[in-house]
Amino acid sequence: AKAAGKNGLQIYQPSLSHQVVAKLEMKYALRHAIDHDQFVLHYQPRVDAHSGELLSMEALVRWIHPSRGIVPPMEFIPLAEESGLIVDIGALVLEKACAQIAAWRAAGIPARPVSVNVSPKHFSAGCLLEQVRACLKRYDLPASLLELEITESCMLGDGDWISREMSALKAMGIRISVDDFGTGYSSLAQLQRLDIDVLKVDRAFTMDLTGSRHGVAFFKTILSIAEVLGLRVVAEGVETEQQLQILRQLACHELQGYFISRPVAAADIESHLRKTLNF
Ligand code: C2E
Ligand code: CA
Ligand code: CA
Ligand code: CA
Repeated sequence: AKAAGKNGLQIYQPSLSHQVVAKLEMKYALRHAIDHDQFVLHYQPRVDAHSGELLSMEALVRWIHPSRGIVPPMEFIPLAEESGLIVDIGALVLEKACAQIAAWRAAGIPARPVSVNVSPKHFSAGCLLEQVRACLKRYDLPASLLELEITESCMLGDGDWISREMSALKAMGIRISVDDFGTGYSSLAQLQRLDIDVLKVDRAFTMDLTGSRHGVAFFKTILSIAEVLGLRVVAEGVETEQQLQILRQLACHELQGYFISRPVAAADIESHLRKTLNF
């Protein structure tokens, strides 16, 4: 970018210009990645806190960059979101998740629901409903095998429109979870009105179980709210045995995190799908 100097001279600002160029290049590379199918999904198990049984898994996108290798989502999702490319990426992710579930089913592997992250921009773009419907039809899948993870920021904005969109998804039989719960601004009234099924409690609260004086009390409160509203609770980011034990004592429903399993490639989740983890 250039700023006008005192005498009208253009003063060159290299650092800002460099950022702009880097962003443009990244945007171009992302567009290329969409058109050339450079994305794969990894899957992270979500298990029953009591039995350890694999209940479902979360699909997490990775960009396989021809020269950089695996690029984690935090390095491109924000720009994808900002540039609107997230709508195309979201559609690709949905398609890939459905294709994978169908492939498992075709191979006789017991299928479990897959949850897909939906960005606020994709949610509000208005095309999600039709994409979900088309994918389920194309791969001949029951809606019960698909869950959508929305963030609390998806619930901000035109309340009537959001209600209609959500009830249409719910009417199809899709489960809806609230991702990173506790970090945003959703109200109890909204959780009830939008007929949310699952709260995925942000990793920060799981860390607080042992790291902060009120950690256990926070989690207890979330669990009792969930009980009143009839919601399932998933603790995200479970990294230690100690966290796992506390969460079981608190009767948290489901666990997800590195202690149980890191996100893994589709082929690696098949052994999980065939067996039951035992705590
Ligand atoms: P998220 O939806 O909250 O997903 C959980 C993230 O936490 C994943 O990172 C996962 O690998 C990581 N994680 C899981 N267990 C643990 C743990 O025990 N400890 C720690 N430290 N981390 C854990 P990942 O795959 O890098 O994804 C980061 C974020 O990128 C996601 O956070 C989500 O917001 C976004 N993202 C990923 N895939 C997609 C996608 O397909 N669409 C959209 N819109 N966003 C996505
Ligand atoms: Ca998520
Ligand atoms: Ca999350
Ligand atoms: Ca998170």
